[in-house]
Formats: sequence, structure tokens, C-alpha cells
Amino acid sequence: MPDIKKIAIIGAGTMGNGIAHVASQSGYQVILIDEKQDALDRARKTIEKNMIRQVEKRSIPEYRMTDALKRITYTTDWNGVADADLVVEAVFEDRVIKTDIFRRLDQMTRKDAILASNTSSIPIGELAAATTRADKVIGMHFMNPVPMMQLVEVICGKDTSDETFRTVEALSRKMGKTPAKSQDRPGFIANRILMPLINEAVYCLQEGVGTREDIDTVIKLGLAHPMGPLTLADLIGLDVCLNIMNVLYDGFKDEKYRPCSLLVKMVEEGRLGRKTNKGFYDYQ
Ligand code: NAD
Repeated sequence: MPDIKKIAIIGAGTMGNGIAHVASQSGYQVILIDEKQDALDRARKTIEKNMIRQVEKRSIPEYRMTDALKRITYTTDWNGVADADLVVEAVFEDRVIKTDIFRRLDQMTRKDAILASNTSSIPIGELAAATTRADKVIGMHFMNPVPMMQLVEVICGKDTSDETFRTVEALSRKMGKTPAKSQDRPGFIANRILMPLINEAVYCLQEGVGTREDIDTVIKLGLAHPMGPLTLADLIGLDVCLNIMNVLYDGFKDEKYRPCSLLVKMVEEGRLGRKTNKGFYDYQ
């Protein structure tokens, strides 16, 4: 199996900085790339703040933080991908942007480098088709917040090689995560199960089956979820939920994935959840 030493991460937003945090603490050299300098500055601050918190809570010794922080390079320059063993792409969930990035990575990286995407819903096969190395393209779907969440959903496209899968599986474990393998089907496993649950909760609200509080309480206390589906939808962003429901609906052409009209209406009205201070709950 290829020996992974240097990881390049494209996109220094919520997920990119979390992946950089975990990868650097696991001993990897990390190069964090974003097109915007202010995104890199924010990522550096977030990573430092989160690691300081880990030290304060005594979950890591201080020298581990110091070493990890030294292993991360922040840059807008893509040349650093040239000697990366693995690239994890974590830019906006946009097919055109991601496909373009995979085409560019294919030209700029070593031919044996693995190209992974943190996409929540875009088919891995589509990203692989933009490269000349479909056997080395794979999904590495980390969960938010990355340093806290145990799972990495590893998505194999139809051409992803067994060696690529085994390398990424081992890497996920080395990062302290538990990998679970999914085939390249719409929504993979996590969102195929989670989003219809959220969508059904929205139908329950729309039909007056229960209040938002009662719906959340039933799922939280009755099914032992850490939070109710409407609270979770507000946290994820209603636009993101709607986008993934549309991916499921378009991908399976099955009525059971039809987005609830209340969800559509709320997105149209800009009630997107926590990020707009208003969703199913009010965050003013
Ligand atoms: P984000 O908006 O926080 O960050 C995206 C970053 O990518 C931004 O800093 C932006 O400047 C940068 N970027 C955009 N185009 C670029 C380019 N061409 N080159 C370099 N940098 C570029 O997004 P996020 O929430 O971190 O999501 C990233 C990916 O992770 C998406 O595919 C999303 O579906 C997936 N994901 C998100 C979550 C979540 O809860 N946020 C969870 C799992 C997976």
C-alpha cells in the first residue's frame, strides 16, 4: 500500500480546517489550500483555538499541539499539491467547481497520488471521470465537526481500486476515525438515511401531527438521537438539506424522496436555519 506522508486539502472552510486539524495531529504533513487568504486566516485561528481547547481540557499534551501546528502550511498557491501523496478536496458543494478541481489536480499531482472528495452528495464517478486515474479517486466523507465525529464514510466509485480503498481505510483509522464503506449511490449511506428522516419530520410539522418541540422530543428521547431532526436541520442548513433531497429525488426518481413543500418554501424565503438566525427555531 502507498505510504501516505503529505496530505493536501483544497478548501479551508468548515470541513477543510477540521480535516487539517485531525490530519496534522495524526502526524501527517498538511498543506491547506484556499483561493481566499481570509479563509486561510480564519482556518488558522479556528485550528489554533480548537487545539488550545483540547490542551486546556487535557485531551492532548501541549507538545502535541505545538508539533501538529508546525506541520500545517496555509497557502493560496496550488504548487504544493505536486508532491502530495493524497489530496482531500473540501470546497463548496458544486458539481462544476469540484469537477474542475479534479481535472486540475489530475494535471498537477503525481500520477500515483490519491484524489479524495469530502462531497456529501456528488457522485464520485463523476469526479473520477474528470481525471485519468479513476482507480485512485474516492470519497472521504468526514462529518462535522471533524475533530469530534468518529465516522468517515468512504465511498468507492465503480473504478476505485481495492488498493485505494484499503489505503484510505487505513488512513482513516490512523486519524482516529472509524471508516464505513459505501457504494457510489445517491446520498451514499449517511444522507440517504438522515435526509428522508428530516424531510419526514418537516411533513409532520406541515401536517400538524406535532409541534416542532414535540417532533424533536420524540426523536431525541424516543430514538436516543443527540438532537431532534428539526434542530439538526437548522444546524446543517435548510438549503443543504433541500439540495440533498433533490439529489435523492433526481437520482432514484422515487416519490418517497420528494422534498416537503414546507422545506422548499422556507428555503425560498431565506429561512435557512442557524446561519440566517431563523429556521424551524428562532436564533435571534
Ligand atoms: P465552506 O463553505 O465552509 O468552505 C468551502 C471553502 O472552499 C471556502 O473557504 C472557499 O473559499 C473554498 N473554495 C471554493 N472554491 C475553491 C477553489 N476553486 N479553490 C480553493 N478553494 C476554494 O464549505 P464546507 O461546509 O466546509 O463544505 C465543504 C464540502 O464538505 C462540501 O462538499 C460539503 O458538501 C461537504 N460536507 C460539509 C459538511 C458540513 O456540515 N459543513 C459535512 C460533511 C460534508
